[in-house]
This record gives sequence, C-alpha cells and structure tokens, in this order.
Amino acid sequence: MSLKTLHSLRALPPWMPRAKLLRNRINNRDVSVPTGIFINNEFRSSLSGSKFSVENPATGQPILEIEEGREEDVNMAVEAARKAFEGSEWANSNPVWRGELLNRLAQLMERDKEDIIALEMLDTGKTRKQAANLDFPGSVGTLKYYAGWADKVLGLTSFNIPGTFAYTRREPVGVCGQIIPWNFPLLMFIWKISPAIATGNTVVIKSAEATPLTALKCCELIKEAGFPAGVVNLVSGFGKTVGNAIANHMDVDKVAFTGSTATGRTILKSAASSNLKKVTLELGGKSPNIIFPDADIQKAVEWSAWGINMNFGQTCHAGTRIYVHEDVYDEFVAAYTKRMASLKVGDNFDESVDQGPQNSKMQYEKILGYIESGKQDGATISLGGKVAEVEGADGKGYYIQPTIFTNVKPDMKIMREEIFGPVVCIAKFKTEEEVLRDANDTTYGLAAAVHTKDYERVLRITNGLKAGTTWVNMYNFVHWSVPFGGYKQSGIGRECGEAALENYTETKAVYYNTGIPAPQ
Ligand code: ADP
Repeated sequence: MSLKTLHSLRALPPWMPRAKLLRNRINNRDVSVPTGIFINNEFRSSLSGSKFSVENPATGQPILEIEEGREEDVNMAVEAARKAFEGSEWANSNPVWRGELLNRLAQLMERDKEDIIALEMLDTGKTRKQAANLDFPGSVGTLKYYAGWADKVLGLTSFNIPGTFAYTRREPVGVCGQIIPWNFPLLMFIWKISPAIATGNTVVIKSAEATPLTALKCCELIKEAGFPAGVVNLVSGFGKTVGNAIANHMDVDKVAFTGSTATGRTILKSAASSNLKKVTLELGGKSPNIIFPDADIQKAVEWSAWGINMNFGQTCHAGTRIYVHEDVYDEFVAAYTKRMASLKVGDNFDESVDQGPQNSKMQYEKILGYIESGKQDGATISLGGKVAEVEGADGKGYYIQPTIFTNVKPDMKIMREEIFGPVVCIAKFKTEEEVLRDANDTTYGLAAAVHTKDYERVLRITNGLKAGTTWVNMYNFVHWSVPFGGYKQSGIGRECGEAALENYTETKAVYYNTGIPAPQ
C-alpha cells in the first residue's frame, strides 16, 4: 500500500488538539503548545498512532505527551518538502520575500517571547538567564541576520576566457534533513532552518526526543507567518527511527546534524550508504582554556566559570580542560573554586538560581558516572562531586554540584571524553610548547581559549590551537554572524555567518559561447 493510500485511509484529522495547558510560572499566564507532527503546515497525528512523553527535568515528572513520528511520517514529510521545492515557486521565489518571511517569524517570536521562554525552561531545565538573555535573542538575531542575507547570495561573472563568458548561480540544494540536539532546542532549530530557508531550500527537521516543545511552538508561528505549506516540516521522535530515516532517505539532498560525535559518525555512514547526500556535522568537544600568569586573573576566573556554567556544562564548546601556568596555579585554583562554589543550584524558575537541573536522567547518570571515574582514576575533587540537594525538590530532578577536579593526568577519561555537565578539570603547565601540545592532544577541535595580556603570545597560541573557535580573554561567546564549527572529530562544515550559506547552495557554472568554434 502506498503511503498516500495509507494516509487517506486513516483520514487523519488535519489539526491535532493542543497540549494540556501549562502554567507559565513567569508571568502567570497559561501557555499551550501543539503536539502533532507538522507536515504541509498542518499538525497531524502520527501514522502509527504512537505518542511519547516529555519530562520536566526539574521534577522528573511528565509534562505532556506528543505525537511520535516514525519512518512513514518522515516519508510523508519528505514528500511534502519535495513537492514544495519542485512543484511550487519556492526554490525560484523572490529572495526578498523569503527574507520577509524570516523577519515575520522573528516578529511573531518576539510577540510570544514569554511563552517560548517558559516552554524552553520547562522542557530543558534552563534558567531564565540562559533562556531569555542568550538563547532567545540568539534565535531572533539569527533569523534577522539570515533574512538580511536572503537577497545577497550572489554568483561570479568571468569575462576572462576568450570567446566565452561564464557566470555562476547559487541554487538551493533541495530537501534538507536537519537533526538537532536537546541542549539548545530553540537556538538549534533556528540556526538550522534560517540559512536553509534564506537560500530557497525546504526542510524536514527532527527535534531531540527530550526537548521537542519550542520547535512545535515555532512551527505554529511558521504557519502564521505565511510560509508556504511544505517549506518547513517537523517530525518529533527518536534518533533510531526518525533521525535514522532522515539520514538514510533517498530523496533528502542534504543532512545537517548537531549532536554527539558517535551519532555524527552514524549519520555520515548513512549518507554514504544511501544517496551520498551532503552532510554537515557539528559535534562534540573537549575544549582547552589556557591561563597565563600575565592574565587578569580575576577576569580569567569569571570567564572560566562561565566556560563551564553556561547551560550547566551542556554545551559542546564548554571549557572543560583548564590549563593554568604554575606561577599562578594556586591563586587561580583558589579564586576559581570560590567562584564555582558561589553558584546557586536549584529550581530553574527561581530567578536567583545559576544552575538548574541537567536535562535528563540519562545525562545525569552519565555525568555522575564520569565523576566516579575521575575519583577512581585518582584525580582530586576540589569542589562538588556529588548530587546537589535542592530545597523543595524532594530528591527529584537532576541536580549536580558544580565539580572541579585537580591533579588530573592527560590519559584520564575525565580529561579525554566529553562529560556534558558541570564538571571541569584543572591541570598545571610550565611552558607554551607544553601547553599547546597538551591542549591539542584531543580528538576534538571545537573551541579553545587563551588568557594573557601579551599580544605576541596571543598570536602564537591562537595560531597553534587546532580549534574552530578560539577566544582571547573570554569564553563561551558565539555570535550568529561568525562561522562556528569544528576541526578534527568536532565536525564538518560551518554554521552561522556567511559560511553557512555555502552548505545550503549548489554552485552551477554556466558558459556562454560568444564565438568559439567546435573543436574538429
Ligand atoms: P546526545 O548523546 O547528546 O543525546 P545524540 O547525538 O544522540 O546526542 O542526539 C542528537 C540528535 O541526534 C537527537 O535529535 C537524536 O534523536 C538524534 N539521533 C540519535 N541517534 C541517531 C541516529 N542513529 N541517526 C540519526 N539521528 C540520531
């Protein structure tokens, strides 16, 4: 039975009921969210009829159930995206209009800002500081930035070849599969769709199973903004089903993924063994953060604390390996430990809290496992190392104390693997050569930082670090207008900035004959 028949037999209701109302604890308004699979601008039930539960990490309790997509839903979404791409004027549409649609989506998000922030906080455990001051403006900023690019993607013209002239056209790639993680659900949704839409592609996107809510909310706004049906399609569900179906689909032209290196490897294999779809990957990290004795130590302490505290360590570019010069090691460790100890762990809706719960039970247990391995390998716990007791949480929720390991060795698991939690290792170094060697001694290459006032040293170190983003006297600062991505096993390709437009366009060369006879 073809999918079309299957679909019509099931006579799906075009609109899913909205989810149970959620109490938005910020402004005391009720917030609701659609729960369906979003195809052709409609929220539908899943073809299998299955649903899955979404949990609040602050309590470990279910928030609501949403429709769970499977391979057949992905097929339907790809069909819709293909039809929107080929069968309509979308791919050749006026780019000014595409820019207007992105701007309109940004305006609608600003209108519904408080609801979006509340949903993101509820779903992820983020603090308001994180969701409202970073993720939300980052998302709206990205939309506006790519809205501006839509009519500025140009080709080249060459009159340098006698008897001909040639030009290039930047054409959309086609149907883009996009798979996003749970640590920045809203931001990653917008980072992914914005350059794809600006350049005239259509999208089938999958949110992470742990955090599907803000993507659903955004799809509602996408319809309201006036995007044509089928341009953006969202299939919520699991990696092994929905993600796998996208990565292996014969009619998906490109897949863009953000997540773990292990899953990135699987996706690359799927692309290779299916239709050789183009692949961009933004993967893990184990980023070094180097403190020289001539740095402003107090500022270095602040930035290094932010290096791990941003999103409670659930950031691929977190500064998890701090290397401190021996001359300032004791001073730095004392001040840094004091600063990290001052972070308040608790209910993420309490505005005085700096660190909320980790995103899921699975992550929580994984982090505690790494802490255990650090202890067993003989590293010293200078701070934390335990589950955090949070008042009012009744032992529920996934809270972990900010944790510092010292006396670490390069071959320890905690120094080599991505922990993705509030856990940092501090090592001591003597010379520039030694610290560059140790900093680069990793399979990852996403980010790095150096703290020093010596500008010649800045150049030596930043040139020597093998990382896609390198900060000087700061940490964890990423802007949508600057390329972001990884060296080595941290990824393939760049997101953000003009660089992302490359990933979403094919370059077609066109030659005009202005007088060359055919070769005899
Ligand atoms: P993490 O380990 O941090 O959860 P993952 O890389 O597993 O990160 O998840 C990131 C995204 O990749 C999620 O949306 C997840 O559902 C999806 N995913 C997981 N496994 C696969 C897979 N085999 N193929 C495609 N996508 C997957």
